[in-house]
Amino acid sequence: MTFQDLNLIEPIQRALKTAGYQRPTPIQAQSIPLALQGRDLLACAQTGTGKTAAFALPILQLLNDQQPGSSRRGAIQALILAPTRELAIQIGESFDSYGKHLRQRHTVIFGGVSQNAQTRKLQSGVDILVATPGRLLDLMNQGYISLDKVEFFVLDEADRMLDMGFIHDVKRVIRKLPQQRQTFFFSATMPDAIVKLSREILDRPARVQVDPVSSTAERVEQSVYYVPKKQKRKLLMHLLRNEDISEALVFTRTKHGANRVAKDLSQRGIYAEAIHGNKSQTARQKALKNFKDGRTRVLVATDIAARGIDIDELSHVINFDLPNISETYVHRIGRTGRAGASGIALSFCDTEERPYLRDIQKLTGQRISVVEGHPFTAEDEDNQPAPQPASAPHPKRNNGNRSNNNGNKRKRWNKNRRNGSKASGDNRR
Ligand code: AMP
Repeated sequence: MTFQDLNLIEPIQRALKTAGYQRPTPIQAQSIPLALQGRDLLACAQTGTGKTAAFALPILQLLNDQQPGSSRRGAIQALILAPTRELAIQIGESFDSYGKHLRQRHTVIFGGVSQNAQTRKLQSGVDILVATPGRLLDLMNQGYISLDKVEFFVLDEADRMLDMGFIHDVKRVIRKLPQQRQTFFFSATMPDAIVKLSREILDRPARVQVDPVSSTAERVEQSVYYVPKKQKRKLLMHLLRNEDISEALVFTRTKHGANRVAKDLSQRGIYAEAIHGNKSQTARQKALKNFKDGRTRVLVATDIAARGIDIDELSHVINFDLPNISETYVHRIGRTGRAGASGIALSFCDTEERPYLRDIQKLTGQRISVVEGHPFTAEDEDNQPAPQPASAPHPKRNNGNRSNNNGNKRKRWNKNRRNGSKASGDNRR
């Protein structure tokens, strides 16, 4: 299947070509024709499947098809609600990319920053609005936003909205939408409350489902290091020095832990930044940009802060702490191995985390291979091998014939290094 087969208009196809997309992902192949026919969608899909284009492309095309001079022009005709600022920004970037040859204007609004720039943009007229619920309601209450002309409504990551306590805000927004509209409902999981909400807001939806949780796990090469809690930072340092890791997204359970790990790495010459809920919005965006641009080699994140983060060609995810909710593990490792590429996920597991590991393996139906003989193995428990001297060569993992496209980013990192940019530091060894 190609994008031509999906009957997408030429300016969109040209933009997709520039973005390097060769063919639609399964969620796009399924959703786009239905959306173009005017159907509501109930889509079960995770971030990383290409779901943004699955709703953004039909919205752009349908808005573009409207008569020139339509009275709606410049009024908000499409509203996309996202749970986090990071996700909202990324959706906005996708509209930039896919709509670059079209006339539709869009903007992104979210809390935690001054509203002035956002209200100025709104007053100049936008066709497509991407928003987090809190700021949207705030600006609606202040009279900056009217949803009367909305024809397309997307609720993205509905299950996260629920988890993060936004469901009442979402319902408040929905009450202000016109009845006559097309709605796209996206959720990675479908707990009862989400199914109920979907019934309330969708009209005879077409159902699309791709990539069940386990198949993300199948794409990603995973291994686990048994390591005492106190040795985790040393092990991380060791891996970053010895393994071929061009960039890594490291997950910790707590904000405090994220700060500590980032500080520790930076003090030891590996440039790292942390993102979590206590950081200002500007600091989070800056850290994310530094990482995406290859200036920071390691980004340390908590789960909430990392939700929705989309980094092309991310080679490694490292679970410094294992999550107690198995689905979170799958979300985390789904940051790598995007859109069909394969990636590597390394996990640290201390004694207390063994039950989490068991749950994860149960959920994914996979045994995660254990790296043995590393210098920081767990003391004696479960017959683990005894610790080895730190100078011992690092056991090589078998990378098999992974055919991913991490090479480019690695090249970029090496180039930065040669040019003596910040990323070069003397980070690697
Ligand atoms: P999403 O699930 O929308 O967050 O998309 C995940 C990643 O896949 C993003 O980096 C997109 O740019 C990328 N992507 C989306 N659709 C395609 C496609 N058809 N071909 C290649 N990459 C894609």
